[in-house]
Amino acid sequence: MYDLIVIGGGPAGLAAACAAWEKGLKHILIVERDKELGGILNQCIHNGFGLHYFKEELTGPEYAGRFIQMLSATGVEVRLDTMVLTVTASHQVHMVGQSTGYRIEAAKAIILAMGCRERTRGAIAIPGQRPAGIFTAGAAQRYVNIEGWMPGRRVVVLGSGDIGLIMARRMTLEGAKVLACVEVMPYSGGLNRNIVQCLQDYDIPLYLSHTVTDIRGRDRVEQVVVSKVDEDRQPIPGTEMVFDCDTLLLSVGLIPENELTRQAGIVMDARTNGAVVYENMETSLPGVFACGNVAHVHDLVDFVTAESQRAGVAAADYVLGAPPADCGVLEVEACDGVSYTVPQRIRPDRVEKACDLFFRVNRIFGASQILVQSGDTLIARLPREHLAPGEMEHIVLPRALLDKAWTNITVSIQEVATQ
Ligand SMILES: Cc1cc2nc3c(=O)[nH]c(=O)nc-3n(C[C@H](O)[C@H](O)[C@H](O)COP(=O)(O)OP(=O)(O)OC[C@H]3O[C@@H](n4cnc5c(N)ncnc54)[C@H](O)[C@@H]3O)c2cc1C
Repeated sequence: MYDLIVIGGGPAGLAAACAAWEKGLKHILIVERDKELGGILNQCIHNGFGLHYFKEELTGPEYAGRFIQMLSATGVEVRLDTMVLTVTASHQVHMVGQSTGYRIEAAKAIILAMGCRERTRGAIAIPGQRPAGIFTAGAAQRYVNIEGWMPGRRVVVLGSGDIGLIMARRMTLEGAKVLACVEVMPYSGGLNRNIVQCLQDYDIPLYLSHTVTDIRGRDRVEQVVVSKVDEDRQPIPGTEMVFDCDTLLLSVGLIPENELTRQAGIVMDARTNGAVVYENMETSLPGVFACGNVAHVHDLVDFVTAESQRAGVAAADYVLGAPPADCGVLEVEACDGVSYTVPQRIRPDRVEKACDLFFRVNRIFGASQILVQSGDTLIARLPREHLAPGEMEHIVLPRALLDKAWTNITVSIQEVATQ
C-alpha cells in the first residue's frame, strides 16, 4: 500500500508530492495520463510564470522543469501514460497504463490534482454551420507550441480570459492576422497585464459586450458574425459585424476535471465545480485532498503551487499523525459581490497560525472593502483599490480572528462611495 497517491502530474501534483515527501512520507506514487510530467505548463511557452514563487519570470516549461528536478531528487515513484479511472471511498485507485495494464492500488491518502479542461462550442451553443477551423484556444496552443502546426491565418478569438489573450498574441507572432477578441461580458476575464501585453501591444481590438452570433462556411470557416449584446447578454439586432476569417478560437471557460471526485461521492461545490474543501484542502472524504485547478480555476500557477504544498503537508500529517479529535467547523459563505470561496469550510482548531482564503468577485469593483463577518460581528475589513473577476483574491485570516467567530463566516464586498 502507498502512503500517498497523487492523481495528476501538473504543477499541483508535483508541488503536493514534493511537499509530502519533505514532510516525511516515503512511499508516494504520482499517476499521470500524459507521456510527461508538467501538465498544461508544457504548452505554455510564454513567460510570466513564477513571479511570486521564484521571484523570476519563467516560461511554463521552465517552471514545471524546476519542480520536475526537485521531484527527481526524491524517491517519489511516477507512472506516466497511465489514466486513473476510478477512486473509491476506501482509498483504492483504479488505473490503466500502457506498460502496466489495469491496476488497482491502495493508498492511505490521495491527492486529486487533475486540473481542468476547456469548454467547447457545444457547451455554449454558438449558432451557425459546423465547418472546420473552430478550435479551443488550448488545442490551438498545443498545435502551435508542441505539434508545430498552424491552425489558421485569419483569426477571431471568442473570450478574453487569459488563454484567449495569450493565444491572440501567439497567433500574431506566428504570422496570423488576429482580427478581434470578442467578450460577452462588459469586462475582460483575464489579467490586466495580459490585456496590455497580448492585445494592446499588438493593436488587436477587444470588443466587450459582444458575442459570436453566426459561423459561416461549408468546409472551412469563412466568416464569423459578431453582435453587440444587451445587459442580459442577448444579441442586439442591427449591430452585426462580419469578419472574413478562417479560424475561430474559443476561450470560453475551464471546467475542473472532477469525474473521479463525483464518482467517489465527495461533496461538490456548484460554484467552483470542484470539491468542497477544508482549510487544509481535505475534501469531505477523510484522507482525500484536492488542489490546483481541479479545486478551483487559478489565474497564477504560483498560487497553485502554494495551495498544493499545503495539501501535500496535510496529506502527510493525515498519514503520519494521530487521528485528530473532532472539532467545530465554520462554513464560509460567499455573499454580496463574491462568487465563491476556497476553502468553503474551516476547522479553527486545525489552523496553526492563519488560514489562506481565496475567492473571486462577480463584477468589477472600484475602491472597496472586503468584509469578513461572523453573524452581525465584523471580524475583518480589508481595503482594495480595485477588484476584478479575472483576478483571484487572497486574504489571510489569523487564528485569533477565527477564534472570535462563533458561527459561520461570510465574505462580501462593499464599494467605497467616491465623492
Ligand atoms: C493557456 C494557459 C496559459 C496560462 N498562462 C499562465 C501564466 O502566464 N502565468 C501563470 O502563472 N499561470 C498561467 N496559467 C495557469 C496555470 O498553467 C495553471 O493554473 C496550472 O497549470 C494548473 O495546474 P494543475 O496541476 O492544477 O493542472 P494541470 O496543469 O492541468 O495538470 C493536471 C494534470 O493532471 C493530469 N490528469 C488529469 N486527469 C487525470 C487522470 N484521470 N489520470 C491521470 N492523470 C490525469 C493531466 O494530464 C495533467 O497533466 C495558464 C494556463 C493556461 C491553460
